[in-house]
Amino acid sequence: MTQPETVQELLAELGDASAQDVLALAVHRFPGRIAFASSLGLEDQVLTAMIVESKLDLPIFTLDTGRLFPETYDLIDRTAKRYGVTIHTYFPAAAEVEKMVDRDGVNLFRDSIEARKRCCEVRKILPLRRAQLELDAWVCGLRTGQGATRQEVEFIEWDNLADMVKVNPLADWTEQSVMDYVREHDVPYNPLHDQGFPSIGCAPCTRAVAEGEDARAGRWWWEGADHRECGLHHRGAGAVPLETAQPGS
Ligand code: SF4
Repeated sequence: MTQPETVQELLAELGDASAQDVLALAVHRFPGRIAFASSLGLEDQVLTAMIVESKLDLPIFTLDTGRLFPETYDLIDRTAKRYGVTIHTYFPAAAEVEKMVDRDGVNLFRDSIEARKRCCEVRKILPLRRAQLELDAWVCGLRTGQGATRQEVEFIEWDNLADMVKVNPLADWTEQSVMDYVREHDVPYNPLHDQGFPSIGCAPCTRAVAEGEDARAGRWWWEGADHRECGLHHRGAGAVPLETAQPGS
C-alpha cells in the first residue's frame, strides 16, 4: 500500500470520528509504533488528558531545548504528577550544542534567519528525529486556524520529512472548544497563556501577542510573518529529514 493510500484508508475509516476516536484508531493501527509529541501547549494538554482518560497505550514525549520558560518546566512536572504519566524528555546532543554555541554564540538566533534555523535544528529537530526513529506514526496537537501557517490541518496526514503518518486528533477543533475542554476537565496549563502567550516555545524566541494579532505572531517575531514555524511542522524545503538523525544526535 502506498503512503497516500494509507492516509486515505485511515481518513475513510474515521468518518465523523471524535478526537478520542481518532486517537484510539491511530493507536490500534500502529501498535507500539506511535507516540505523542507534546509541547505542553493547550491542545497538547487536552490530548494528554484524553490519552489518560481513555487509557491508551500511547507514549508521550517532549523536547527540552534547554531554552524553555521556567513555567513550561513546572508544567511538565505538574502534568506528569497529575496524570501519573511519564513524559519522556528528549534533549539535544550536548556536543552539538557546545559546538554551535562556541562557534556562533549562545544567542545566535538573533543574528540571521539561517542561524535561528540552525539553533532550531540542533535543539529541536534532530532530537525529534531521534524520537521518531522507531515510529511509523506520530500524534500532534495541531489545529486548523492555529495561526496563519496552519490553515489546512487534516486528522491524518503524510509527513514527508519524517516519512511517516502524522495524526492530528484536534484538527477541526476551535480555540473555544479547546478552552472549554480545559475548563471542564480542569486540565493543567501554562500560566503564560493567561498573560498573552497563545503559542509558547523557547523563552528568547516567544513574546506575548496583542489582541487581534495572529496566534503565532509572538514566535520569532523579529523575522516577520513568513517565519512562524521552526521546522517540526514545516512542509517546505530546508527541513531535516528523518534519516539525518542518529541515536544520540
Ligand atoms: Fe533556538 Fe529559538 Fe529555535 Fe529555541 S526557538 S531552538 S532558542 S532558535
